[in-house]
Amino acid sequence: MGWLMSVLSFLMALWIGGTDVAVSHWEIGVEVTPVRLTAYLDPVFLVSSPGAPATACTFGSTIWLDSRIVGTDREAFIVAHELGHVEQFHALGWLWYPATVVLPMEWWPREPEWSEPSKARGEMWKPPAWWPKRWHFLRLELRFGKGKRTRLGLDRNQDDRVV
Ligand SMILES: [Zn+2]
Repeated sequence: MGWLMSVLSFLMALWIGGTDVAVSHWEIGVEVTPVRLTAYLDPVFLVSSPGAPATACTFGSTIWLDSRIVGTDREAFIVAHELGHVEQFHALGWLWYPATVVLPMEWWPREPEWSEPSKARGEMWKPPAWWPKRWHFLRLELRFGKGKRTRLGLDRNQDDRVV
């Protein structure tokens, strides 16, 4: 169901942002094993419109900001906080929602130090470095199948043993 989160996240960005969708961050990853190559593409879409339901909210890789915040001294702090939620979505996928019951997914300072975006995540749950990502915006997988290997090989029998 990860694809559904990607589609909904992208549609949300288009629906709110229209032609004004900013891609604020990119993350690209590649994993290679003897049998497969996997490439990940993780953009973060930043959109704004007047009167967002909260000051800001995040779904998947889309951050929605109330346009009254854009360009103010609060913007960087709030975006840094929302990026924390993007990271949570990558770590948990749809499990983000049930996780809110057991993990501190949300946290907000009583008196935000707007000039210190590094303090915007505070005590909200942050996946540890070893945590495997459950969701990527886009994932491409190439499998090196037995057939291809045999076709490329000079010695068919040897290749069959290797694979
Ligand atoms: Zn939050």
